[in-house]
Amino acid sequence: MAVVALASVACGAGESAASPAPAASAPVQETPQSRAPVAATPTPSKTAPPTFDAKVTKVSRDRLPHSWRPGCPVHYRDLRLITLTYWGFDNKPHTGELVVRNTVTDDIVTVFRKLYDWRWPIKQMKLVDAYKADDFASIDVDNTSAFNCRKATGSSNWSNHAYGAAIDINPRENPYITASGSTAHQNAKKFTERPMKGKGVVNPGDKVVKAFAAVGWEWGGYWSGAKDYQHFSKGGG
Ligand SMILES: [Zn+2]
Repeated sequence: MAVVALASVACGAGESAASPAPAASAPVQETPQSRAPVAATPTPSKTAPPTFDAKVTKVSRDRLPHSWRPGCPVHYRDLRLITLTYWGFDNKPHTGELVVRNTVTDDIVTVFRKLYDWRWPIKQMKLVDAYKADDFASIDVDNTSAFNCRKATGSSNWSNHAYGAAIDINPRENPYITASGSTAHQNAKKFTERPMKGKGVVNPGDKVVKAFAAVGWEWGGYWSGAKDYQHFSKGGG
């Protein structure tokens, strides 16, 4: 249509000089108007990180070759795999995996959505089976994990991890501290004091502790005697 209008202008007929004028100005006005919203939409989506995402699925036996076995207090059919976005120490979004009991998936998704929105950093998040369910090895590489069918540290009773109702977060920055104030992990020795500043460090009364408390999970940093700064569990213990 524009070509036709321009062609009639080029003809130079006196009577058509008046009518092409508004026709020619109309596209000029439309062009910046139509470009503006198109340009505004992709700009933020190119630079902004992806929004938080969490997917809850059943977990197959072969995903838990070391962390689950017959005789564990919760059957693997009652566990769930959560695949979720987390914010890394490298200041980038990542996808991690957690296994928890089916009754607490909403709690975990609620908390980790907050952590991600705050850009609160987590070093890494793999199933403990990546370390053959060796708790010490998982902690030593600063791995955040939840379910593990094991006894509580220094106890013959099942840990809350064996029920899929506990999680350890950034275990290097948030070590388990004996009553005498020591940690078994050499790389965690500079993180034994509280409160203290640091990437991925949990402190008394901070927003991470409050986020868990809001869904009924208690922090191991409030224990008397030994303290477990990495540990949150549903209902405590
Ligand atoms: Zn723990």
